[in-house]
Amino acid sequence: MTQSNEIKKSGYVAIIGKPNVGKSTLMNFILGKKLSITSRKPQTTRHRILGVKTAGDTQVVYLDTPGLHQDQKKLMNRIMNRAAMSTLEEVDVILLMVEALRWDDADEDALKKLKSLSIPVILVVNKIDRVKDKEQLLPFIKMLSAKFEFKNIFPVSAKTGVQVNELESVITSLLPSDVPFFPPEQFTDRSDKFIVTEFVREKLMRSLGDELPYETAVTIEAFEEDEKIVKIAALIWVNRSSQKPIVIGKGGEILKLVGTQARHDLETYFDKKVLLKLWVKVKSGWSDDARSLQSFGYDE
Ligand code: GDP
Ligand code: MG
Repeated sequence: MTQSNEIKKSGYVAIIGKPNVGKSTLMNFILGKKLSITSRKPQTTRHRILGVKTAGDTQVVYLDTPGLHQDQKKLMNRIMNRAAMSTLEEVDVILLMVEALRWDDADEDALKKLKSLSIPVILVVNKIDRVKDKEQLLPFIKMLSAKFEFKNIFPVSAKTGVQVNELESVITSLLPSDVPFFPPEQFTDRSDKFIVTEFVREKLMRSLGDELPYETAVTIEAFEEDEKIVKIAALIWVNRSSQKPIVIGKGGEILKLVGTQARHDLETYFDKKVLLKLWVKVKSGWSDDARSLQSFGYDE
């Protein structure tokens, strides 16, 4: 413990934006630990995930939100949108994240939702590592600064960390003087079991084709931990019996790969050995049925 562990500033920061712009990647980078799962697929983050960073005399509570989905017809999308929006009135700072040189209706939509709030908004222009000619950023930023009175506009790379420390300094300067909300050693409000289901889901999303991951959910059947090892049994739920062999793979190879990769990340997370057993089960229509969604942890 350091001497100056008296927290003088603390507050909540929501990270919002359309799917896939890099919100979860940014939160993980800031925390220095993988907490929120990421992938190239647009519906990776389904829950609101809170990440706490306590450093020096400051505690910042980040809220990683599911992206705002434009198609409101699907029940899952409506729940995700609500998870993304419901916290916004209570936070101290909002980070609106976009991809460098990209602005479309979905970004416009996200911005529109912020206009009625009186909370400082920092525009975070992410993925600048992909922009070869950095001069191109200037007209892009100019165009965006005309749209809204952003407190600040910040080009960053959440993946490589370029400008992320600077962004954190600006965030800190906008936080109120307040007592901490969490003990300094705590860095999320999520349970270990939740983290397991998320890490398994991430590996599924990364290993499977485009349509299927959206229709999978993971639950924990058994979880035992002692000083040396965490023993976990988890179930992967799919919507249709035809999907089961896809998740298992030829000779069980996909399930094996998912298990190995998830175990690897979990061993880093728990900092001990992990034994992970996975099964696949069918529960038809779970992703569009309110009751099943609730039983999988998606609250309406
Ligand atoms: P989210 O849906 O907004 O949470 O986005 P994710 O954090 O899941 O990221 C979506 C994809 O963009 C992933 O494949 C990330 O690796 C990638 N990504 C995120 N930030 C950056 C970045 O700064 N540069 C590059 N090149 N890719 C990034
Ligand atoms: Mg995400």
